[in-house]
Amino acid sequence: MINTNEILKKYDLKLTKTLGQNFLTDINIIKKIVDAGEVNQEDLVLEIGPGIGAMTVELAKRAGKVVAVEIDKHLIPALEENLAHLDNVNLVHGDIMKVDIHALIGDWAGPKKVISNLPYYITTPIVMMLLEGDINWDTLVFMVQKEVALRMAATPGSKDYSALSVAVRYYSEPKMAFTVSKNCFIPKPDVDSAVVRLKKRELDFVQDIPKEFFFQVVRASFGQRRKTLLNALGLQPWLNGGKERLKEILNKLGIKETVRAEELSLETFAALCRELA
Ligand code: SAM
Repeated sequence: MINTNEILKKYDLKLTKTLGQNFLTDINIIKKIVDAGEVNQEDLVLEIGPGIGAMTVELAKRAGKVVAVEIDKHLIPALEENLAHLDNVNLVHGDIMKVDIHALIGDWAGPKKVISNLPYYITTPIVMMLLEGDINWDTLVFMVQKEVALRMAATPGSKDYSALSVAVRYYSEPKMAFTVSKNCFIPKPDVDSAVVRLKKRELDFVQDIPKEFFFQVVRASFGQRRKTLLNALGLQPWLNGGKERLKEILNKLGIKETVRAEELSLETFAALCRELA
């Protein structure tokens, strides 16, 4: 296991909060994250933000290939040293939101996975970019703020169910894996963390609805959480027929008029969109 304090001292590294630099120091947690991805020799794994490479080393032991993308140039010399003995790691200096992921993956024929202790300042944009993009990921394992993991894996009716939960479920089957104490990081983050696993899949029952319209409806419905659907979605200027028509549709679908977005499953959102279209 890489000794984080030793490496930070040797390379005189100052970790920055703005890049979400909280490094994992517990090898058991690192192994559990890799286990959650069920990584094997057939897999190519994309790691976002390898830091100084503690998890990269474990990934490389089990995966066929690892592509590790790190934005902070100050970490590259330490990474190069820590990964020098591994011949299946492609270390890339760049911003995950800007690099050409297709080019980095090339023509890898086996399963493609993402496993990352994500920088928390940019969690949702990274997760949505990966889910919405056209790369056929098999599994995505993310360590994120516990609160975000709960929202990603939430089911309808729970207090954490949100537009993010619907978006994650649109593209994948999410599962909360385990929580991680603040004490497993250097420096200690302000918030608790959790690992969530997303199994990519396609849903049949949303294929006939234009994606943009589906998410326009979802976002508007959750826009003002304390409002009923009738008041949140029904008052949108772009909604054909407005509140009155929405009331008729709810009645037709057998949904009570006082319903709130957090009670609606993906299937119900799809049925609603079909009626509204
Ligand atoms: N993987 C390491 C670990 O678990 O110890 C470090 C994880 S740390 C939470 C997040 C890492 O992501 C940092 O190394 C940070 O520099 C890097 N990072 C932040 N923004 C990034 C971006 N846009 N693209 C690539 N890496 C980024």
